[in-house]
Amino acid sequence: MAEPSTSPHASPHPLDGVDVDVLVIGGGIVGAGVARDAAMRGLRTALVEQRDFAFGTSSRSSRLLHGGIRYLAQGRIGLVREASGEKAVLHRIAPHLCAPLAFVFPTRTGTPWTRWKLGLGVKLYDVLAAGSNLGASQVLGVDELRGLLPTLDPRRLTGAVRYFDAQTNDARLVIDTLRSATRHGARVANYTRFVDAERRGDRWRVTCERVGADGGAVAGTPRVELTATHIVNAAGPWSPHIPHSGTRLRPTKGVHLVIDRERLPVPDAVVMAEGDRILFALPWGDRVVLGTTDTDYDGSLDSPTCDAADMDYVLRVANATFPGVMLTDNDVISTWAGLRPLVADPHGRPSDISRRHEITSPEPGWIDVTGGKLTTYRLMAAETVDRLTDTPCRTADEALLPSADVVASGSGVLPPPVSHELVQHYCRHEWATHLADVMERRTSWRRYHHDAASIAEQVAAWMAEELVWSADRIAAELRAARGNAN
Ligand SMILES: Cc1cc2nc3c(=O)[nH]c(=O)nc-3n(C[C@H](O)[C@H](O)[C@H](O)COP(=O)(O)OP(=O)(O)OC[C@H]3O[C@@H](n4cnc5c(N)ncnc54)[C@H](O)[C@@H]3O)c2cc1C
Repeated sequence: MAEPSTSPHASPHPLDGVDVDVLVIGGGIVGAGVARDAAMRGLRTALVEQRDFAFGTSSRSSRLLHGGIRYLAQGRIGLVREASGEKAVLHRIAPHLCAPLAFVFPTRTGTPWTRWKLGLGVKLYDVLAAGSNLGASQVLGVDELRGLLPTLDPRRLTGAVRYFDAQTNDARLVIDTLRSATRHGARVANYTRFVDAERRGDRWRVTCERVGADGGAVAGTPRVELTATHIVNAAGPWSPHIPHSGTRLRPTKGVHLVIDRERLPVPDAVVMAEGDRILFALPWGDRVVLGTTDTDYDGSLDSPTCDAADMDYVLRVANATFPGVMLTDNDVISTWAGLRPLVADPHGRPSDISRRHEITSPEPGWIDVTGGKLTTYRLMAAETVDRLTDTPCRTADEALLPSADVVASGSGVLPPPVSHELVQHYCRHEWATHLADVMERRTSWRRYHHDAASIAEQVAAWMAEELVWSADRIAAELRAARGNAN
């Protein structure tokens, strides 16, 4: 079934004049999860996203559904148990976006990562998943490890542990969650920015504006006005800047690099330790994703980039782990950078800041929901909507989408083949309005393909047919999509 069309540039705006029980600000995974949950519990729900859905952190993560082996080392057992439970739920409700992935974590003398400690850790990891982990962990000897990863640095190796988490596709998880939300009656609009709200009696009068591909307000279009009983601020790293918000965050940046798998032929994901930090080499079809970093950030929220120092650092750690491979900048096919919306903690190193989530209500009818992880979004949404209604949550029980819808959208962990039919589908049923919406968030083609520039030209031509673009518009979309590459 087609989702209702909510193209924000249609006139009048699809949300103008509506009255809802709950308005969600932010179309990242948390906002999408809240919208789905609220709609499933019978609340009249609307969601606004200032750019494209998943424009923010939720298309820039490491794409893992994980309990968090690192948090175990930090003693955060509750967080690991919670995330492990959610990993199992997502495997049940959205198997197309939860592919079990084995991780090999080499252990060495003279490092904090000893084999006996990690061996106990991974057993506890399985136990915390309450028997529903996606595979059983193992402890490996040196010979077995070297058989598996012959290019690994052999010095001080004592063996490895192998444990299971899952790989997802963060942006597709957002889009599919929104498609599910709209099936349950939610109304959602991208390229629509929440500007302000005024409390009148027990309701909010809300003002939004239409936004173009560059993030600026569309000149000459009227403001969008609606009313809502409750507002949920799920604006991720932008959350403190939303009027009425009571949140304080300490954003940190993380980057990823994509290289050819032929250059680093890893059969499983590999944990690359650097002191007490860990990075990953994650197999992704014919590619490997390397990441990530964790550094304090005070630049533009709209366009964090992977700079030369970030790239050098990640390549240096990968080359130290696999010394014969000698990766250079020339091996990098694409990069992305994202900001973690971490709940403020002015003390300590960025990687030590808690990944816990926080749900607060600074004034009547207003809820801020921040922090957490992609993995725990459904739980965050459930706890948020519990504050709005007594109707029980059903999001863990119902499949995210019927399988026919999954097939129609090519949704999955890996990018779908480039096709005219899919591009039409994204324009007609998945709110794709700009070239980057398709190249980045519906498909990941920009990140995956060596010839992404020529694919972008083809996709722009297909979108032009569908959305009636002029030659100038096509050129502008190609320029904007290039500018979005980070
Ligand atoms: C490098 C990195 C790696 C990560 N890896 C993982 C991982 O592997 N697994 C995991 O579980 N978690 C991971 N995370 C964490 C996870 O990605 C985030 O916790 C999650 O995506 C945050 O989602 P969100 O919806 O809160 O924020 P966002 O996805 O940023 O969504 C907020 C949205 O609000 C919109 N917005 C802002 N202002 C307005 C406005 N005025 N009006 C309308 N809309 C507005 C923004 O455009 C944005 O799209 C990672 C994070 C980073 C940075």
